[in-house]
Amino acid sequence: MDLMEFSKEHLEFRDEVRDFAQNRLKPIAEDLERKAEFDYDLIMEIGRKGWFGIPIPEKYGGMGKDNVSYILALEELTKVCGATAIMVAAHCSLCVCPIYYDGNEEQKKKYLVPLARGEKIGSFGLSEPNAGSDAGGTETTAVLKDGKWVINGQKRWITNGSYADVIVFTAQTNKELKHHGIYSFIVEKGTPGFSPGNKEDKLGLRSSNTAELLFDECELPPENLLGKEGEGFKVFMRTLDGGRISIGMLGLGLGEGALESAIEFATTHERKGKPLIKYQWVQKLIADTATELEAARHLIYHAARLKDAKVDLNKEGAMAKLYASEVGTRACRKMMDIIGPDSINGTYPIQRLLRDAKLMEIGEGTSEVQRIVIGRQLLGR
Ligand SMILES: Cc1cc2nc3c(=O)[nH]c(=O)nc-3n(C[C@H](O)[C@H](O)[C@H](O)COP(=O)(O)OP(=O)(O)OC[C@H]3O[C@@H](n4cnc5c(N)ncnc54)[C@H](O)[C@@H]3O)c2cc1C
Repeated sequence: MDLMEFSKEHLEFRDEVRDFAQNRLKPIAEDLERKAEFDYDLIMEIGRKGWFGIPIPEKYGGMGKDNVSYILALEELTKVCGATAIMVAAHCSLCVCPIYYDGNEEQKKKYLVPLARGEKIGSFGLSEPNAGSDAGGTETTAVLKDGKWVINGQKRWITNGSYADVIVFTAQTNKELKHHGIYSFIVEKGTPGFSPGNKEDKLGLRSSNTAELLFDECELPPENLLGKEGEGFKVFMRTLDGGRISIGMLGLGLGEGALESAIEFATTHERKGKPLIKYQWVQKLIADTATELEAARHLIYHAARLKDAKVDLNKEGAMAKLYASEVGTRACRKMMDIIGPDSINGTYPIQRLLRDAKLMEIGEGTSEVQRIVIGRQLLGR
């Protein structure tokens, strides 16, 4: 029995997403992976369902649900296709949310409404060749010239980067001010001086799009500044707190997918005339993995509830992301041991899940960086 305090509305919504994930996404997930191509029509189909703006009020084009609903949806999508889930997560947690929390009314009308309605794709550009974990080391510059912000620099590893219509990004306005000089901005596809660059050929999440963003004397009007001057660092730190919950959920969902796959295998395959599931070593692997996944699930949903309660979740978000992403990878590895050789040749999706899960330990801050965040909170530094 699930006593995690999900309401009837939560469970009905989860079932709606589960139905789509199992019947529409699961049959094509391997094919998407093999082609390693972004499926624009599929993503827009998800957008039309309203799932690009699950936790955003209806007034701004969203579904008006809570963050727990959003995380439940990501869980169902991730169990069958991590690549699809990360595109939704990057759009919603990293682009829609900062505009909702920090945008002014004009920006909400112009950008948030079409993004939340699923008419446009969003992304978030923080990481650079020399700055990601060290966000304070942002090298992209924004200089105010004749009333316009002139942007120069390069972003790297940006999910949805090649396809995004609206991008929230960071730039340094005054190096001497260090992180206080970093501001957040909004840029639209097609703005002169702005273009997507090379696409990454990744180990996992291969049908998700991860690309560079290039700025060359790109001029933005003052109204494209997101949040108040000097508060850009706060904007994206809060964005990362929320984003960590969704990336943690992706790690967890991939582990849950691996567990389901191994249980299916162990109940339908025999060795020495006995179903694999009857062997104690298989039961132990399954029990240990299910226990770790359940613990991760509690951390993730706890962090989502803190977000709904609008309280600080810096430590809890980092703990959820750290634990769930590492448990996700471990679960995939252990479940591969049960399936054996059929786990490595594509007969079962588990090798894809393992490759996807490893990326969740890196994206949105590596495990080491999560430990630093947690340590700072615990030690009061
Ligand atoms: C699939 C995927 C999608 C992504 N999507 C986005 C996106 O949409 N937008 C975006 O902006 N970025 C995105 N990223 C980038 C990602 O967030 C960064 O790569 C990640 O935060 C790591 O930062 P980095 O690249 O600076 O790595 P580095 O920090 O250079 O990592 C190298 C090593 O240094 C270690 N390290 C770094 N700092 C410290 C420290 N202070 N102490 C000890 N060790 C340290 C790390 O743990 C790691 O072992 C994505 C990455 C992936 C893999």
